[in-house]
This record gives sequence, C-alpha cells and structure tokens, in this order.
Amino acid sequence: MGSGEQMKKSKKTLSLVIPCYNEEGNVTLFYEACQKAFQNFNMNVELVFVNDGSKDGTMKELKKLVSLKQDRFLIKAINFSRNFGKEAAMYAGLKNVSGDYVTIIDADLQQQPELILKMVDILEKDENYDCVCYYQEKRKEGRIVSFLKKSFYKTISKLSKINFVDGASDFRTFRKYVVDSILSLGEKNRFSKGIFSWIGFQTYYLPYVPEARVYGKSSFNMKGLFQYAFSGIFSFSIAPIRFVTFTGTLFSLLSFIYLFVVVIQKLFFSIDIPGYATLIACLLLIGGIILFALGIIGEYIARIYVEVKDRPIYIAKEILSNKEENLQDEE
Ligand code: UDP
Ligand code: MG
Repeated sequence: MGSGEQMKKSKKTLSLVIPCYNEEGNVTLFYEACQKAFQNFNMNVELVFVNDGSKDGTMKELKKLVSLKQDRFLIKAINFSRNFGKEAAMYAGLKNVSGDYVTIIDADLQQQPELILKMVDILEKDENYDCVCYYQEKRKEGRIVSFLKKSFYKTISKLSKINFVDGASDFRTFRKYVVDSILSLGEKNRFSKGIFSWIGFQTYYLPYVPEARVYGKSSFNMKGLFQYAFSGIFSFSIAPIRFVTFTGTLFSLLSFIYLFVVVIQKLFFSIDIPGYATLIACLLLIGGIILFALGIIGEYIARIYVEVKDRPIYIAKEILSNKEENLQDEE
C-alpha cells in the first residue's frame, strides 16, 4: 500500500454526487456554497458533477471548475453523451466516487450544502446508522400535488411491502458499503427511492425545508411526476399482475354462475336468451377488462425487454478531473 492509502486512513473523504441538467447558472454558485460550507471541515471533499446532456452552458461552467488545479477540493465532471435522466446521473456519480461518506445533492441549491455537515456528523457519532436522509416535513406545493404525492407513498408502500417514507428526498448521505449495495442493483429501470428502501440498512431521517430554485426551472412537471410514480409501482411491485389474476378469476366465476342460470332458464322454464342489450354490455365489459389486463402484462414485458437488452445505464463522453491521477473507470 502506498502513502495515498495511509493518507486516506488518517483523513476521511466526503464525496458529493451532483446531477446537473441545464444548470449553467447554478454550478458555480453551488461550488461557492460548498467552499463556504466546508471551510472548517476536517475531511477531504470530492465533488462529482454529472452533466446529464445539458442543452445550455453547464459543461462550460464545469470545465472552469475542473481547471482549478490547486483547489482543496477534488473536482470531477462526468459528461454524458445525451440526457439519460437524473436516475442515470446519480448512478454514474455513485460509480465514480471514492469517499468514505457519499452524499447525493441537487445542483440547484434547493438543498443547501451546509446541511450535509449534520448528516456526516450523525454518521460519525453513531455507527449504528448507515445512511441519513432529509425529508420534506411540510410541502410547499399546492394541496392537490401534495395529496397526490402522499397517496403515492402510501400506495407504493402497501403494494411493494417496502417502507417508502413520505417526503423522503434523494438528498442523502451513505457510508461507502451502502453505495456498493446500491450499485450492486444493476437494473436499467432505476427507481432510486425504491432501491434505497429495498437495500435496507438503518436510515436516520432528518426534516428539512427545500429552498427556492436559484436559477432555471424544475425538470419535473405533472406528467413527469405521474410517469415517475407509475414506473415506481411497476418496478417495485407485482400487485397489478395479482390484480389482473384476481379480476380474471372473479369474472370467470360470475360468468360460470350466469351460464348456469341461462341453461336452467332455457331447459326448465323455456325462457329464451335475454336481450341484445345485456349481450352487448357483457361483451364490451369483458373486452375492456381483457385489454386492461393485457396493458398491465405489457408493462412488465416492456420492462423485461429493456432489461434483457442489457444496454448500459449511461454513456459518458468524457470524465474530467482537476487532479488527473484520480480518474476512475467508465461504465
Ligand atoms: N436533473 C438531471 N437530469 C434530468 C433532470 C434533472 O440530472 O434529466 C437534475 C437537476 O439538474 C437537479 C436535480 O436533478 O440537480 C433535480 O432536478 P429538478 O430541480 O429539476 O427537480 P425538483 O427539484 O423540482 O424535484
Ligand atoms: Mg430542484
């Protein structure tokens, strides 16, 4: 073991994973906020920015940061070949960290870097905890969005039998081995909130209030949130398939009873088959149920299709660092 190894032992490292999509106005401010927050922090600090195919000058700003060769921070910038989404950006970041503690944080300063100190402090003091997570105690959004989000967490917790904490964010700090566990789940349809819960470990929950976005606008609109919720349920639960089986069984049973009634009526009471309206109604209802069931099964098949293709989760065009010797492997 070289001297680098010994240095690591004497001083721990904190790594920050920062997904960035169209954040040109935020990354430098974010870096400055980190300088301020970690002024008296006695660990090495590593900032791993992931440029998730931004259409603005985010990469240009990141290149400026990477050119700070004498900086006390180790600064890395992973540049994606296109937009792969926040989930992929988080995965790429986690794959390229070297810290003993690893924090995921947004680039838009809605999550203040100084709040990380509290998380690290908890992990330093209590070795029973493996992870610290900030959750939104009070939501700033409108009532409807807030209600929908709450209902989503309740539903998915029930359906998947994994505990999803309402309002828990991706603003988390993990010990190194927790990061390894997260990376060991190599699925392509990544739903991190589910993955974080699924791997288990002791999590300490801290309340926080997100700030307003400094620059730019949120990438998640209502449609995006619905897709996210949908993908979460299908990735972490087979309850919809069970529901199809249940509905199918129920309708088979009802049909059977009805068939019995019709036969008895015909044989013993000479009543002919009931009218056209009933027939059409039954036909349409059953047709609808079959299509609905096919849709649900299709969702799972589509997921299997994506997994089987085994494409990489992201493609990085380049990985830059202000301390060259610290470049790590690509996916
Ligand atoms: N982000 C990303 N890829 C995307 C969308 C978002 O890396 O395709 C990043 C974004 O730059 C930010 C974080 O994910 O750092 C959270 O995104 P945003 O602020 O838009 O979401 P919100 O805070 O509204 O949930
Ligand atoms: Mg944000």
